[in-house]
Amino acid sequence: MSMGSNREEMGIIAASLRQHVQRGEKAGIRFLSRAESGGDKLEDVAELAPGEGIEGNLFSDYASAYRSKTLEELRAAIGDCHRCKLWSGRTHLVFGVGNPKAKVMFVGEGPGRDEDIQGEPFVGRAGRLLTDIITKGMGLRREDVYIANVIKCRPPDNRNPESDEIESCEPFLVKQIELIRPRVIVALGKFAVQTLLKSKVPIMRLRGSWHVYRGTKLMPTLHPAYLLRNPGDKKLVWEDIKKVLQELRSPSD
Ligand code: SF4
Repeated sequence: MSMGSNREEMGIIAASLRQHVQRGEKAGIRFLSRAESGGDKLEDVAELAPGEGIEGNLFSDYASAYRSKTLEELRAAIGDCHRCKLWSGRTHLVFGVGNPKAKVMFVGEGPGRDEDIQGEPFVGRAGRLLTDIITKGMGLRREDVYIANVIKCRPPDNRNPESDEIESCEPFLVKQIELIRPRVIVALGKFAVQTLLKSKVPIMRLRGSWHVYRGTKLMPTLHPAYLLRNPGDKKLVWEDIKKVLQELRSPSD
């Protein structure tokens, strides 16, 4: 490689790092100097703006999360996370719960009040309805499936998570899915569905048909909290769940 192309390549890397740093700072992420980091390991030197998939950020604070081989390692890598502004209002970071080898993974939006207090997803009234769907509807136990959210910390007053918060947190969900390798993801509610599918199509049009999220089959359905307000729509969820059960019973690809 010539000196010229070397310089060019270094220039591209420097520009890309600069861009990461600027985006990180915009998201309120503090960058550490080499001295502050107290180490030579690249991932200790800078926390970069997330959102490009943790696999891409070799230098980032997500590197140890990406290297995790188990859910326990991933949880440890997330640590006392300050990667987005939601850390300041949480009681507990709500990582996820269930069978690490689950065939079905339910993904909701983010923790509410009960979940924030207990540190477990879907434990309030809506959570009890989800448990009914799993146990009475699917004939499974809650421990047979895995339950997580797109966002691991409760947004203030249960507002919708903001785009920088999703960018910061979604890499953890991506890694959870990669480690669990479920056969099917059931995405619960408008927010989770539209976020995962990067779609603005209304949930009522997305639900009930198969989609793909990063290589895994995804069935969008209605959120249990919505069903508490609109019990008449339970039959729609049952239709979606029947498709999930059918998929689980069919031979794997
Ligand atoms: S919401 Fe996610 S990225 Fe933000 S502080 Fe919590 S765990 Fe970290």
